[in-house]
Amino acid sequence: MLFTLTTTHQPATDLGYLLGKHPDRIQSFELASGRALVFFPEAHHERCSATLALDVDPVGLTRDRTETFGLEPYVNDRPYVASSWLSVAIARVFSSAMQGKCRDRPELAAEALDFEVELPVVSLRGGEGLLRELFEPLGYQLEVAPLPLDPVLAAREPDADVWRGSRYFRVQLKGKLRLSELLSHLYVLLPVMDDNKHYWVDETEVEKLLARGAGWLEQHPLKERITRRYLKHQRGLTAQAIERLQPDTEEATEVLDARRAEAEERALEEQVSRAEQTEKPKPLDEQRREVVLEELLACGATRVLDLGCGEGKLLRRLAKQKQFTRVVGCDVSLPSLIRAAEKLRLDPDAVDRFDPEARVTILQSSLCYRDARLRGFGAACLIEVIEHLDASRLGALEHSLFGDARPKCVLVSTPNREYNVNFPGLADGRLRHRDHRFEWTRSEFRAWANDIAARHQYAVRFRDIGQVDAAHGSPTQLAVFTASQGAECN
Ligand code: SAH
Repeated sequence: MLFTLTTTHQPATDLGYLLGKHPDRIQSFELASGRALVFFPEAHHERCSATLALDVDPVGLTRDRTETFGLEPYVNDRPYVASSWLSVAIARVFSSAMQGKCRDRPELAAEALDFEVELPVVSLRGGEGLLRELFEPLGYQLEVAPLPLDPVLAAREPDADVWRGSRYFRVQLKGKLRLSELLSHLYVLLPVMDDNKHYWVDETEVEKLLARGAGWLEQHPLKERITRRYLKHQRGLTAQAIERLQPDTEEATEVLDARRAEAEERALEEQVSRAEQTEKPKPLDEQRREVVLEELLACGATRVLDLGCGEGKLLRRLAKQKQFTRVVGCDVSLPSLIRAAEKLRLDPDAVDRFDPEARVTILQSSLCYRDARLRGFGAACLIEVIEHLDASRLGALEHSLFGDARPKCVLVSTPNREYNVNFPGLADGRLRHRDHRFEWTRSEFRAWANDIAARHQYAVRFRDIGQVDAAHGSPTQLAVFTASQGAECN
């Protein structure tokens, strides 16, 4: 079985450093499944490819097995189909690269580079649709070609489906990302594609999944399906992994000290929140909802999205407005969505049964991944949401929201860090909430928003929300983006 990785990042021969393999040499590794060879079929300044060829010995693999079925051990697809054997080989042969280490060019390993992957044969249970659902949210472009079961007979008898339809596909992936991310995606998703693993899974597989899935699997729309398949449908292990993958329950695994620190932070937050509440003339969150509603009505939108809707306070206000013929709330947190469903008196199962026709509805999705259900809206708001994302994920949010969903109007609000001096307990530079990954000054927020507007053909203006302090501005800052082209809907 073959796996070829190509880069067009220049100089492309840096791929040798990244993989820790010399492009002029052929290297060989003995693995339990057979022999792995790594060689570079192409190594130029503009383009460089490395191939991992795994020569699986299917007969050798059956030697230790007591129950075998007929000819199956001898006649099977193992030698050529990319499978969990390939995952194991990748982890072994490219182990440092998968961990993001690169002795000679460490800065390269940390950089998102242009990569292409060629897998001549993968076995797919779930077809091309599933393949796309697995890889597209991670930012890959795919080319997928179904392989006939028997190319000769398929050519001779073009109408006989039996020779054409197979579960085998040739797959090419393209993406700009770090090599460690790419290898981790493949490591997890190869066995998920064919829904089979050649080895027994136990708790150590949960640990491997959490380690290799860190940073992307938690928010992948097919997180549960991936986990189930990866753990060979073992219910106990799957439940354990899902529980630990929930962004909300991550803290459950923290040690007690962390809990204590958290309790202190919580007390502080309450203090801040009380201070926000006593903002005159109205509580700050109420003022935010009013300004947002005013902007949404003014921009003429009829189809609106509340992204990161939390427990749905704004959704409730939006649902009452006749101008809005479609109101969709979206959040990554299932518990929040369930509470939002209760507030909106929707069926609690509404999250699972997203109804594209309903006037008011909710859906679970992460803003860091493209989601076709979010396209075609007149307006979207992200109220106090961006600061909950790691700064390194803001680029992904930008691509999915401004590049792909492209609502005509986008409202983004976030705390103004300069104002924090007015909140008791925050004078020392602390943030307003323990889940905030950052809080920006006015100029930081403006620079971010202006760059996005320029890159995606939007105009942007800014508004203060809350009482303005002459030196430090308002507690909340709002950016109002309006598409100058490429978003015709309302
Ligand atoms: N907009 C609401 C909630 C703000 S709290 C309000 O103004 O009250 C931030 C919300 O963003 C949380 O509900 C959190 O679950 C959600 N969130 C965080 N990261 C997200 C992501 N990547 N995709 C979607 N929602 C996310």
